[in-house]
This record gives sequence, structure tokens and C-alpha cells, in this order.
Amino acid sequence: MTNKKTTNDNPWERAQTHLKATLKKISLDPLIAAGLMTPDRIVEVSVPVERDNGQATVFQGFRVQYNNVLGPYKGGLRYHPQVDMEEVKALALWMTVKNAIVDVPFGGGKGGIKVDPKDLSEKELERLTREFTKKLFPIIGPELDVPAPDVNTGPKIMAWIVDEYSRLRGKETPAVVTGKPLAKGGSEGRTEATGLGGSYVLKRMIEKAGRRPENFTVAIQGFGNVGSFLALFLNQMGFKIVAVSDSKSGLYAPEGLTDIQKLIDWKEKKGTLAGGHPEAKKISPKGILTLPVDIIAPAALENALTRENAAQVKAKIILEMANGPTSLEAEKILNRKKVQIIPDVLANAGGVAVSYFEWFQNVKGEKWSKEAVFKKLEEKMNVATDKVYEIAKEKISLREAAYLVALKKIKEGTDFKGRVLKNA
Ligand code: NAD
Repeated sequence: MTNKKTTNDNPWERAQTHLKATLKKISLDPLIAAGLMTPDRIVEVSVPVERDNGQATVFQGFRVQYNNVLGPYKGGLRYHPQVDMEEVKALALWMTVKNAIVDVPFGGGKGGIKVDPKDLSEKELERLTREFTKKLFPIIGPELDVPAPDVNTGPKIMAWIVDEYSRLRGKETPAVVTGKPLAKGGSEGRTEATGLGGSYVLKRMIEKAGRRPENFTVAIQGFGNVGSFLALFLNQMGFKIVAVSDSKSGLYAPEGLTDIQKLIDWKEKKGTLAGGHPEAKKISPKGILTLPVDIIAPAALENALTRENAAQVKAKIILEMANGPTSLEAEKILNRKKVQIIPDVLANAGGVAVSYFEWFQNVKGEKWSKEAVFKKLEEKMNVATDKVYEIAKEKISLREAAYLVALKKIKEGTDFKGRVLKNA
């Protein structure tokens, strides 16, 4: 997952570079600024699991609690063979920034287990998740640290965590995680939230520039949860989706892919995009980010844009839906080409915004309709986009502006905490 061929491709160094650059632009208490450069707490656990054949395997698990100035730590759990501490630290820092930008009362965290879930049976995966929950029990909870799904984890795994945590606590506690199934206290609209949030951000940016969605062609890399809903909602808004890809296949139709819902159903049924749209040309997934389109949206994994392909990008706008899809070297090249990058910490923050709505509903015992969730999400994403856009007018990049918005918010939080401490 993390490409470590060059130092610039290391997400943790990249995250620190972006943070350092922003810290130079804002007067923050030196102690707070220094604290922001490293996580508050790093937890590494061993998770022994009984295999179906009676043998035992020990897995390595992580939780990074980055910063909790604005509220409980919040961020996903990733199950992947290449999960490592550097990557988790970067993702936890990005969560801290993201939560501050969309103004939810959460800090940032992230975690994961070094495992390929495809190597485990369903029962083994459940035992692994329950054992991991036991190990994390002292440091998670609705007011402490609230995990969520990420790559290869989903509602079922969240339901096991709620169940195990509630058993240990002796009290049903759905707010310990978000991204749960509806029947277990999940929120309407959480599945669509990240893709939908990204579509609101893009539409707002385009409107601010006095343009209309109908005038833009879009290519989307990755057709999983995020990429597929992004395609669906952008298409509904009037953008022309001309190309989509997953890890194995790609489709390109210069006149536009017309029925996105049909494509989603096809992919779900067949497990591939290939053959999902009769009028579309088959393309290799590799080339999707360099097609002659107006907007590209990397919605797969980190380091999709590197020094190897950045110079060939023809789009004028990049909507970063994946976390960390652009390496530092690629960003320099794209900046020189005057490509506008709508940064991940804003573009994909819709997921955590609705996670906050879910947590809020659990804590208050409320149940909101999908329409209410979508409306509140649109308001949140528009406010966040406006703030970033306004600051970026001062001749800085949207990424720098997004980090500034976040640090200003964290500064407000720390100023208040500082006063409380001094009075104590
Ligand atoms: P997912 O597993 O549902 O989908 C990932 C998709 O990417 C799949 O279609 C896969 O085939 C495709 N893919 C993998 N490698 C590829 C490649 N080289 N070329 C083209 N496609 C490739 O994951 P997701 O939940 O959609 O997450 C995608 C990204 O968005 C990740 O970076 C994740 O961290 C980020 N993100 C997700 C959420 C969320 O709510 N799901 C929120 C914020 C950020």
C-alpha cells in the first residue's frame, strides 16, 4: 500500500512536511506546535488468534492517537498486509486536520492490523477483531477514541467491535465506533457519505469559479465505496463521467458513461468493471489519470500520482478522494503546471462528517432520515469549502489553505485549554 521507493513517497514525511509548512504561517504556542508534530500516543498490540485448525497465529495491531484538542480521537481501522506504523501515523495526522476542517468535535486517530483478511475464514476474522478490541479496550470509548471502517474493514467488523466492547463494559455502547450496520446503530447515508461529500466540494468549487458542472469531463480512479458513489453523485449534478477504473480494468467513453447505477450494479454482481458499459472502450487502469479530461479523481490508494506520471496529467483539476494520492514530487510538478489540487483533507472529509452525525445520534438516542443526513452533510461541506476557498485567495494553494483552516481551529481549542490550565 505504502510505496517507499523514494523518501518523498513516504506518507508520514509528506504529512509532516505539509504540517511544518503551515506551522510557519500561524503563530501557535511553540509547545502546542511541537506537540502537533508527533502523535499523543502510539499503541502497538499483539493479537493472538486461534486458527480453525487449532493452531495459533499472532498478528500485529496498531492504534495511533494523534491529537485530542478538539475532542475524542477519531479515525478508521485498516486491515492490510502492508499496514505499518509510519502509514498509520500519517493517516492519524490527516484525520486530525480533516476533523478540524469540517468542524466536528473530534481529534485524530487511526489504527490497523497487519493482515490480509482474505487469508482468514469469517470465524477467524471475527476472533481477530474481538481479540483486537480486548487489547484496545482501555484506550477506546465514545468519549476517548472512536474507531471507524477503513480499507478492508466495514459494518460487520464494526458490529463485532461494538458487541465485544459492550460485553467488556457491561453496557450496550454503540457510540464506541461509527460505520456500523443500521440495525446496530449505524446512520443513514454513511455508506454514500465520502463520495457524496466529495461531489459537494467539487460542485461548490466549480460554482465559485463561475462555471457549470456540465462543462467538465471527469475520470475516476478506483470504483469501490468512494469512487462509485462519487461517480453517481457527480453524474447526477451534471458532470460528464467519461472514465472509471478499478485495480484490474478501466472503461473510457469520451461521450460520457450514461448509466452509473447500472455500472455499480454490474461491478457488484461481476466483481469487475469489464463489460459493464457496451459503448465504452476498455482501457488499462494505469492510464486513467493521464487521459485528456478536465478533472481526475484518484479514489483508490496512496501515491497514485508520482514523479513518474505527474508530468503527463492533462486535467486542470485534481479531486483527491483517496488519502494521500499525490506524492510531494508529483505535487511540485503539478503546481508548476498550474493544476488545481483539491486536497484529500477537504475532499474526502464527508465520511467523517457523517460519522460524527452517527456518533451524535447514538449519544442522543436519535434517528435521522437519509434526506436530513444529506442536507446536513451538504451544509457542512459547503461551509468547509468556502473557508478553504477564501483563504486560498491569498495566493496560497488549496492544500495550504486547508491546513491553515485546521490549525486555526486547533489554535482556538488550545487557547481555551491553555487558559484553563493556567487558572488551575
Ligand atoms: P474500497 O476498497 O471500497 O475501493 C478501492 C477501489 O480502488 C477498488 O475499486 C479497487 O479495485 C481500486 N483500486 C485499487 N488499486 C487500484 C489501482 N492501482 N488502480 C485503480 N483502481 C485501484 O476503498 P474505499 O473505501 O473506496 O477507499 C478508497 C480511498 O478513499 C482510500 O484511500 C481510503 O483511505 C479513502 N477514504 C475512504 C473513506 C471511506 O469512507 N470509505 C473516507 C475517507 C477516505
